[in-house]
Order: sequence, then structure tokens, then C-alpha cells
Amino acid sequence: MNAINPAKITKILPDSIAAEMGFEVGDAIISINGTSPRDLIDYQFLCADELLELEVIDTTGKTHLLEIEKDYDEGLGLEFDSALFDNLIQCNNRCPFCFIDQQPPGKRESLYFKDDDYRLSFLYGSYLTLTNLSQKEWARIEQMRLSPLYVSVHATEPEIRTKLLKNPRAGEILQQIKWFQQKRLQIHAQVVVCPQINDGEHLEKTLLDLASFHKGKIPAVASVAVVPVGLTKFRPNGDELIPVSPEKAAEVIQQVQNLQTKFRTSLKSTFVWLADEWFLIAGEELPPESHYENYPQIDNGVGSIRSFLKEFDLAAKKLPKQISTVKKLTWVVGNAVEKAFQPIVERLNKVENLEITMIALCSNYWGQNITVTGLLTGQDLLSGLQQNYLGDGVLLPAMMLKHGDTCFLDDMTVTELASELNTPILPVRGIAELIETCIK
Ligand code: SF4
Repeated sequence: MNAINPAKITKILPDSIAAEMGFEVGDAIISINGTSPRDLIDYQFLCADELLELEVIDTTGKTHLLEIEKDYDEGLGLEFDSALFDNLIQCNNRCPFCFIDQQPPGKRESLYFKDDDYRLSFLYGSYLTLTNLSQKEWARIEQMRLSPLYVSVHATEPEIRTKLLKNPRAGEILQQIKWFQQKRLQIHAQVVVCPQINDGEHLEKTLLDLASFHKGKIPAVASVAVVPVGLTKFRPNGDELIPVSPEKAAEVIQQVQNLQTKFRTSLKSTFVWLADEWFLIAGEELPPESHYENYPQIDNGVGSIRSFLKEFDLAAKKLPKQISTVKKLTWVVGNAVEKAFQPIVERLNKVENLEITMIALCSNYWGQNITVTGLLTGQDLLSGLQQNYLGDGVLLPAMMLKHGDTCFLDDMTVTELASELNTPILPVRGIAELIETCIK
């Protein structure tokens, strides 16, 4: 049995019920109306009551019973140190392309955790494989209507998926998608294409199989992202994987675009989308903004460049003509987006007194020639920036940092980088922060 820990509070929102009741950071919730929440999903469900009895343990170890009367849709205003109050559900696969196994040894332990937890998929859109779920967890997904989930399908043919995940349970994927269909629950799917394993006719079959579930008011498969396999220089020997070449990328683009044309007629949706990386590897133009419908797979790098450019264009209308004092900043990005983001730099530099220089880097750390921004590490930045004039600071896309963290993927901290470069590092999350940091 998975032990449940008290839910430790890390933040109390101002003017909230919790603030009014005197909650303090470090207090922890043991139970709500007699039930110990396993995770944020339970917490939100239990808090949807109008009368709550909370058992809380404070930092001295003393327990308190608190009664709260509130509207059913009113939150308590608490944040916790983790979304899971019991143990993470771990991965039981051995995918040869696993990014966790393609890291150097000797880093902090948390970088090697392989989660495959449906709760994180529901809460944050991370991908899972469905190979490790007990009957109890399947029942919970149904009862609590945990939908949509994000599923790494890779291939629908049992032997191909079993080979890719190195797990005999991986072959049950089509039955599992049928289960979602019967229960009127949804998934978003992804296919990581590994040349000579699940490409060509296998990719065709996978996408057609998935498309057969895109029907009715609540299609069981809402969308599919096709992503190229990512390899690093730390990949294990004998993994049988072949990197995606520009020719292979062009072939996959053509194949998927043919299917998209068919799906637009038969399904009234493009349904399957190619990750931006395919176009960057092939050196082809990205599809127009209108191609992406409501961007169902944006967190998977599908349409994120177009969406970023569109958001910038809208925000740029409000840029001032000038700023009061001269400001010179360096914007560091992955070289995969260098060309696409050039218009942003040109537009920002039209603001008088503002001078933005873009430095586009690839990752020597991972051993890549083309790198997306999110994979650049502290060491890449240090070696790529230290010989350059950096001006008043470095604009750092926060996607290089682990969520809510101040560490890069190689464990270097933002503070360490700033001290090595002797320059302020200014993490920016999204367009609004990018512009704000430039002009404030
Ligand atoms: S399912 Fe994900 S975490 Fe598990 S081995 Fe495969 S890629 Fe790695």
C-alpha cells in the first residue's frame, strides 16, 4: 500500500480562507472530512464540499481540527510542495530513447526519476504509457473522470510497441484506447518516430488506427503529435536507434501532410500534427498559424514557434517608441529557432534606446548540432556566452529551467551562471515577461 504523507503547505494566497484562518507555511493537511488526500486531485475533490473538517499538523508536530464553511466552488488558497502526497507511480518500461537514460551519470537523484504517473498526466499534461496501472487506478480514472490523459502510443502494432517500450504489457494499447472510448474519456496521443522501427508503413498504420477513434461528440483520441526521436551523446551503447536526418524529416513531413489532407476531409480536423522540430531538421518552412486549430499539442512543441510569434505580434503593438535610458540585453536561444525569432529581435530593436542581441547556441553538453531552447544547459550557456559582450544582462527563456526550479538540466544554478559570467541573468517566462524585462 502506498503510504500517504500529510500535504505540506508551501504558500498561502493573500486574502484567502486559509490566510484568514491563520494557516502557516510548513503546516500540513492530514485529512479533509476524514479522508487523507493522495494527491491534488483528491484535495480538489474533497475541497468541493461546503462544510470541511480539516485535520492539520503544524511545524511543532501539534495537530489541530479546523471547521470551515464556504461556498462549494471556493478554494482554500493553499499551495503544496508536491502534487502527489503519496509515492510517484514509477515507469516500468525500458524505452531505448528514454531521455532519462541519455543523461550523464553523477547528477542529482531527482534527474533520474522515471515517472509514468497518470495523475501528473491529468494535472500537467505529461505523457504516460498506461503499462503500469492497477485495476484500482483504472477504476479511479473512470470514477473521477480524469480526462484527457496524454498517452505515448508510438505504435499500435503490439509487437512494435512492445519492442519500443521493452515491456510485454505495451501491446495492449488498442484495447486500452477502446476502454477510454467506452467510458467516454479522452486522450491526446504522441508518437515518437524512431527511424527503421516505427516509421514508414508502421507510422501510417498507427495514425490510421488512432484516427478511427476520432469520432462522435467525445472522440476518444482527441489529437496526435508526431515527434522525432531525440538522441544525446550519452545514449547507451547498442540502442539500435538511428538519428533523424534532414531527408528522413522531409519524408515524414510529406507522409503526415498527406494524411492530414485526408483527415481534414474525413474527420473535419487535421487531427495529427507534426512537432516544429521536423521542419527545423528538414530546413522547411513552418506551417502557417491557422494550421494548428486550437493548438491541442502546444506543450509538445507542436506549433509553439508560430504561437510565440503570433503572441509577440499582438504584444508588439503596445511597445513604446522609446525607453528612457539605454539598455543592452543579450537574448539566448537554441539555434533551432534562430531564424524564426529574428523578426522579434528586429522589432524590439526599433524601440529607441533598446538594443537586443540574439545569441543562438547548440548544445555541446548533449552533443547536438541543432538544439531547441529548452535543452540548453548551464554549461552550454557558459561556454557559448563567456567570450561575448553581454550588455546589461542575459534574457534567459525560463523553459531551460526545470518547472519552478532555478537549476538547468545539468544541475548548474542560475546564480552560479550569473556569477561565472559576471552578468545578471534575467529568466523570462513567455512573451509578456520578455517584453516587460526589455522595456521596464
Ligand atoms: S516510458 Fe518514458 S520514462 Fe519510461 S522508459 Fe520510456 S521514455 Fe523513459
